[in-house]
Amino acid sequence: MMEVLLNKLYEQNELTQEDIVYFLEHLTPEYQKRLFDLAVETRKKFYNKSVFMRGLIEFSNYCKQDCLYCGLRRSNPHVERYRLSESDILDCAEEGYNLGYRSFVLQSGEDFRFTEELMISIVTSIKSRFPDAAITLSIGERSEAFYRALYDAGTDRYLLRHETASRSLYESLHPGMSFDHRISCLHVLKDIGYQVGAGFMVGLPGQTHNHLAEDLLFLKELHPEMIGIGPFIPHSETPLKEAVGGTVQDTLVMIAMARLLVPDALMPATTAMGTLDPTGREKALRAGANVVMPNLSPPKVREKYALYENKICTGDEASHCRTCLEMRIIASGYEIELSRGDHCRVISPK
Ligand code: SAH
Ligand code: SF4
Repeated sequence: MMEVLLNKLYEQNELTQEDIVYFLEHLTPEYQKRLFDLAVETRKKFYNKSVFMRGLIEFSNYCKQDCLYCGLRRSNPHVERYRLSESDILDCAEEGYNLGYRSFVLQSGEDFRFTEELMISIVTSIKSRFPDAAITLSIGERSEAFYRALYDAGTDRYLLRHETASRSLYESLHPGMSFDHRISCLHVLKDIGYQVGAGFMVGLPGQTHNHLAEDLLFLKELHPEMIGIGPFIPHSETPLKEAVGGTVQDTLVMIAMARLLVPDALMPATTAMGTLDPTGREKALRAGANVVMPNLSPPKVREKYALYENKICTGDEASHCRTCLEMRIIASGYEIELSRGDHCRVISPK
């Protein structure tokens, strides 16, 4: 049976929910290795050996939401909050540009002080200074009008993980937020024309194989350009501080399955993987991931952007991140790609 399922994953890029659950329950170390090898083969068909670099700028840790798992949640009084100014953000982009990056991700908590007007100004300035760079926003849920205005200002991509495709699990982790709204944001972003990133955490409290199968099938159905999958890492100042959290191994399996179900996706080897295991990101590359996100935030704020604790690379200069990641990528048998790194279906980027 496992042979049949592996073949179906590789040849047809699909499985039913029952099949995924069966597969996860019967996954031996040997099948796991085969799964990772097939994921790597599949990624090569679309992106060869390239690993795409995206410079990450964490520009505000203020957040109006209260996600139970996240260290930046509004009910955590121990966070020293910060906001970067527009000129700080431009300096980060400039540093990244000089290091060769042509893709920037601007991420923050849900901070409505960054109004539509201010975000348009930031995106417009980056685009006019660095017209050959792609801009991705990852700033949470906003209105359709906001998403449209930012797209018109030149934003290329938007990351908004669905976090979990199970309505009940979603609702238990996100007080005051709506599952339907999260999902509708993803559809709106897609309709507007953004390259969209969805994704989920592995090892959330109460998450079962059935939930993970739902996550994978949700991604298959949505067919986003980017998929971020990372382990949940409990934070000591949140209600989930006693939770067990996700493992590198379980996350690798999800990355490989997502690669086979959505073969042309751009998938990061996340910082959370590198935090749980010094070689976690390399392992992710060898399970089908093909993106890394070097940190470009000013070193003085990095520790304050603690979605989870003990995040790696908080003490490093941007240039150090570049060299360190480059070495890791090459040692894993891959090649660095510094271009915008559009999805392979995008023919003429904006
Ligand atoms: N506020 C925006 C973007 C910043 S959070 C948003 O929520 O969309 C970026 C991602 O960090 C979230 O999507 C979530 O999946 C992840 N995250 C938050 N807390 C985490 C934790 N404790 N462990 C692992 N990942 C976490
Ligand atoms: Fe805010 Fe994002 Fe953290 Fe939720 S996950 S509390 S929205 S920063």
